[in-house]
Amino acid sequence: MTNENDISYRWNLEDIFPSDEAWAMAMANLEQELGALETCRGHLGSSARTLERCLHKIYELSKELRRVSAYAALLSDEDTRNARALEMRQSTELLATKFAQVTSFVKPEIIAIGREKLDAFLAEEPALAIYRYPLHDMLRQAPHTLGEDGEKLVATAGLMADAPSTVYAILSNAEIPWPEVSLSDGTAVHLDQAAYSHYRGVPTREDRRRVFEAFWKTWRGYQQTCGVTLYASVKRDLFYAQARRHPSCLEAALDGDNIPRSVYTTLLETANANLDTLHRYFRLRGRMLGIDDLQYFDIYPPLVHADLEFPIEEGERLVLESIEPLGAEYQATVEEGFSHRWMDVFPRPGKRSGAYSSETVYGVHPYVLLNYNNDYESVSTLAHEWGHSMHTFLANAAQPYPTASYSIFVAEVASTFNEALLLDLMLKKAQDDTSRLYFLGTALEGLRGTFFRQAMFAEFELEIHSLVERGEALSGERFSRIYGDLLRKYHGHDKGILTIDEPYTIEWAYIPHFYYNFYVYQYATSIAASSLFAERVLEDGARARDAYLAVLKAGGSDDPYTILKSAGADLASQAPYEALIRRMNEIMDQIEAILDRQPPRQRSPA
Ligand SMILES: [Zn+2]
Repeated sequence: MTNENDISYRWNLEDIFPSDEAWAMAMANLEQELGALETCRGHLGSSARTLERCLHKIYELSKELRRVSAYAALLSDEDTRNARALEMRQSTELLATKFAQVTSFVKPEIIAIGREKLDAFLAEEPALAIYRYPLHDMLRQAPHTLGEDGEKLVATAGLMADAPSTVYAILSNAEIPWPEVSLSDGTAVHLDQAAYSHYRGVPTREDRRRVFEAFWKTWRGYQQTCGVTLYASVKRDLFYAQARRHPSCLEAALDGDNIPRSVYTTLLETANANLDTLHRYFRLRGRMLGIDDLQYFDIYPPLVHADLEFPIEEGERLVLESIEPLGAEYQATVEEGFSHRWMDVFPRPGKRSGAYSSETVYGVHPYVLLNYNNDYESVSTLAHEWGHSMHTFLANAAQPYPTASYSIFVAEVASTFNEALLLDLMLKKAQDDTSRLYFLGTALEGLRGTFFRQAMFAEFELEIHSLVERGEALSGERFSRIYGDLLRKYHGHDKGILTIDEPYTIEWAYIPHFYYNFYVYQYATSIAASSLFAERVLEDGARARDAYLAVLKAGGSDDPYTILKSAGADLASQAPYEALIRRMNEIMDQIEAILDRQPPRQRSPA
């Protein structure tokens, strides 16, 4: 049986550095080498040979910087109370800032060299080939890069830029006085953000109502303040868009990864054109919960309860089996990771919460942090994080360091793809209808939360930015009106599918992502792409698999939109979104078929 203190379930940081002393030596070395970069300043354009020598040095230092940073970050996350590890982490952050300052000459110098001369250098010096994409990407951004004075001014504006999100974070994390709510059995709950996430899904409907009423009433008390911070944040986005001569905030945000605007608009159009599928889900939810006047507080309770336990050995076995369609090599790597301590598996006092797959340590394997607690969600998270890790692993194996790191735009494809494979396996293995309904229901809810909810957020973001671009002022009350209209549209309020009461339209104030400048749409586009890839791999086998694995191996060697498009998932076309909608409907077909063959009394779990 699993012993939670078993060292084999802790990650082995010695694969990065044999000791803290070795880490400290690497840090000292880096400091010194950084100074040597000064000899490159002003000389990148002098010859192909010099450019190659300087880029080589810069990327080598960047790689080493990631190595020391990852070691300190992982060490600190093992036990966040460890002050020495925290200091190590902070010193890597200082070094990273210094690295950014020291290398800030690179982009302007490359832009000054210009396309023609740069291409001549590339033709002359074969060793420059591995920098071709990053160099061309810098040139692409030339029209939005300002002269020295302009860049200095924009950088100085950064002193003020974080204020809206910082004020918001302090308010929402520390200063809002959370209410007490008493549940129907007399339990008193201090309803902070974590308690809200937990209690909004309780089985007793009256309790969910109480939780919603108390929580949103509290937020409503800060409607004006949150309105001011969000409005200020949108104005910040507008400042940067205008300063860098972008036609709009959206285009400014998409430019970093060179994503076409049509990706964003196609996402919104397709989500809107398929609201019937979302509404079908709500009707099914009402049927399964035995509720005919569905309210916003009925969104979160699971469709069925199943007490399923998956000890880590079982979870690992299931994940390994589920990835079989990706081939023996892929499977063997994951198995090696499981058996060679690439993961920190169990919760412990002081350990960082949540789950992640670590940032790149080039030349070393990826690391995974979990807080595994034997439920199905833990198994699903295991599959998800290993999707990320294998993306990192395959990209690092196939790409030289300068093009190994992949963009956020493709990041959630590999993780949600592996979740889809896990569902496929669980359904094949399920012994009874309750567990079948449980897996199907979990997947369905995942698609709602990752696709439709994020698409709704994306629509809200676009609308508030467009209003500010047109010179309109936005108050908290106006945000609630705009958000309320979207909530009602997406949830079929006017069609009598799910009622959105006025007090809940303050929900926008609770979403920190609205301060991230057009970030959330990437969850929706990623899960659409992975739905298409998963459908093809499960149906067509080897050829579809190779196309999909090519996406992972491509790392950051091209624009992320192009990488996905080359593999057959054009996110500016309908096809990936339609695959996701098909998947949702197929899941609902299966659920309904099970319900239809069950005796009626079992249809309405309390
Ligand atoms: Zn993820």
